Amino acid sequence: MSKSKQIVGIIGGGQLAWMMAQEAQKLQLQTIIQTPNSDDPAVGLADEVIFADVADVAATQELAQRCDVITFENEFVDLVELEKINNSNVLFRPRLSALKPLLDKYEQRCYLDNLTLPVPHFSKLEKTENDSNLITFPCVMKARRHGYDGQGTVILHDRTQFEETWKRWGYPSVLMEEFIPFERELAVMAARNRQGEIAIYPIVETQQENQVCRRVVAPAAVSEDVVKDCQAIARSLLSNLDVIGLFGIELFLTPDGRVLVNEIAPRTHNSGHFSLDACETSQFAQILRAVCDLPLGSTTMTSPAAVMVNLLGFETAESDYQQRRDRLGGFPKAHVYWYGKRQSRPGRKLGHVTVLLDQVEEAGQVAAAIEAIWRGE
Ligand code: ADP
Repeated sequence: MSKSKQIVGIIGGGQLAWMMAQEAQKLQLQTIIQTPNSDDPAVGLADEVIFADVADVAATQELAQRCDVITFENEFVDLVELEKINNSNVLFRPRLSALKPLLDKYEQRCYLDNLTLPVPHFSKLEKTENDSNLITFPCVMKARRHGYDGQGTVILHDRTQFEETWKRWGYPSVLMEEFIPFERELAVMAARNRQGEIAIYPIVETQQENQVCRRVVAPAAVSEDVVKDCQAIARSLLSNLDVIGLFGIELFLTPDGRVLVNEIAPRTHNSGHFSLDACETSQFAQILRAVCDLPLGSTTMTSPAAVMVNLLGFETAESDYQQRRDRLGGFPKAHVYWYGKRQSRPGRKLGHVTVLLDQVEEAGQVAAAIEAIWRGE
């Protein structure tokens, strides 16, 4: 790669690409995104756009010709097809073979289990195998691919619900796993560069409702042992994958203090948005640093604590919610990000707000106040 004016290709054009493109400008990097939608958040900010589906490999080949390195905003790619253009002229970071064990939730569980990383008990269920009578409830059924924001994850309480859900899905092969009565959900972002150096962000607590992340509290108020367990998981995973890039790792903290891995995102993640305002280097700058061979930045927090609140759609409408955003912007120490999506739908991530805090104990009250403004109360 040339040292000056590096060009980064990003597959995907949503809010993660948008925030990456903002950081790219500060780092004097150029960006080209591949996305099918002209009204995607990153389209207005990228230096160039290739309008094509993220799984369109011919488009990615064109992208490769125009940039120095290609990274990913989402994992809805067609890996089998991508591997056909995976030659010395195309630099994917993370490399495709590191993504391979992660894109399918069942294969990801197998990979983590083989590394002896702690995961919930799991199995795969196929229609033909007819071993569904062995399932005990409650349990969790997950689509093996293309799930996000809880789409494709169902907590099953009884056999009737299981049979109805699987039938509705068309009886695909699914991941079944034990229901974890977690005490909390945690997450950690970690980056790894070409030299194998790893930078780990503070462990955060994520709060979900209906399987969708609503709030992230940084740092998580957990013991030093739990912090060490999370960091060890991050180190082990990134080193074993021998990966260059930045990963988000979602975790469960069980009532008896064990940390289990829920899911790996091989890219920037919602649980790392707080880093834009509360850390010396944001996750978006960090992934660019890692994939462009720039030194990794410090992950130290610049504020004692922070809370990030997702602005989730609550209606189907076309609105920019300007008044509510103005009120949010007036909240002390609040940083408002609006992704510029034209269409609002219930549960859709339209933006987020990070509020810097003097102490983590303020997080609940502050998040409730932000949510009340957003809901128009
Ligand atoms: P997605 O890929 O859509 O984010 P996840 O698999 O991360 O889906 O699940 C979304 C949420 O569902 C989790 O954050 C958690 O709240 C809940 N969940 C998922 N798996 C389990 C489990 N095994 N036990 C209990 N809750 C779970």
